[in-house]
Amino acid sequence: MGEFELIREYFARQPVRRADVAVGIGDDAAVLDPPAGCQLAVSADMLVAGVHFPQDTAPAAVGYKALAVNLSDLAAMGASPAWFTLNISLPRADSSWLEGFSGGLFALAGPYGLQLVGGDTTRGPLTVGIQITGFVPSGQALLRSGARVGDGIYVTGPLGDAALGLMGLQGGVSLSKAQRDHVIGRLERPVPRVREGAALRGVASACIDISDGLAADLGHVLAASGTGARIELEALPLSPVYQSLQEQVGWGPAVSGGDDYELCFTVPPSRQSRLKALADELGCRLWRIGAVEAQPGLRLIEPSGAMYRPNVPGFNHFSAP
Ligand code: ADP
Ligand code: MG
Repeated sequence: MGEFELIREYFARQPVRRADVAVGIGDDAAVLDPPAGCQLAVSADMLVAGVHFPQDTAPAAVGYKALAVNLSDLAAMGASPAWFTLNISLPRADSSWLEGFSGGLFALAGPYGLQLVGGDTTRGPLTVGIQITGFVPSGQALLRSGARVGDGIYVTGPLGDAALGLMGLQGGVSLSKAQRDHVIGRLERPVPRVREGAALRGVASACIDISDGLAADLGHVLAASGTGARIELEALPLSPVYQSLQEQVGWGPAVSGGDDYELCFTVPPSRQSRLKALADELGCRLWRIGAVEAQPGLRLIEPSGAMYRPNVPGFNHFSAP
């Protein structure tokens, strides 16, 4: 199978055909019609085999997750996803791998109305780079820099499950079959909070998605906003599986574990009633976990009132070993 046949067979056939794509895959560049009154939100993420996922990960899970992490970045900006490009480097043109990969990719692209509009395909170590573009009404993007003293801090769902999944894969914790299925599912198939992100426009003062762990990612919001925060660990949403393992694993996976892709956001007191209405409307729960404070730094408070100090910072590719 040649390069062009591969593109035609696995990437050009897809579930979504958007009216705002004048020219998609097949020419030297895509030609796209952005809507009036909107700004474009653009984000890119790269997944490298052996770094971001184990070499033997099921191809459908790789395809799904590569797109999910990009969708999560747009969600964190309050943007609605529209188009994406795919840069892929493959050791060989293995049709069953490509079938699984493109299946996982388009299974997620379909429901979100996303169209693949171009990319690049080369031979090399397995690496998947996606760039995604979405729309946000002008001036309404959710930034990291908007948190103010007194704002409540919230998350959209349970934390730490993906980290437990990784620990399970690496033998760091022993799990029953049911526990394993749950946490590996959360690791491999995170649900990007796209609807929640868009609904938070005009309500949240700052927002980020949790890819590197709550402490690290909330830390980015606090640094960008020039504030600090206090988090009550007791208020962190933990899944029943996490709760059953908590004596063994402590707070670490929930505080410092990455890959959950929940949103962490801040809301001023004046907009708290709008937040409640929004949660009812979305039919989803939002958890208040703490508050923004003037004193710089992040204070994590244990149920006993003691200060909790995470012994691992968030994931950082270039941190000193
Ligand atoms: P060029 O040589 O002009 O860069 P290519 O031969 O790399 O073009 O690609 C041909 C067409 O296929 C282009 O429209 C490109 O965007 C698209 N394409 C290549 N690889 C992919 C991919 N992995 N996914 C989606 N579209 C792709
Ligand atoms: Mg090219």
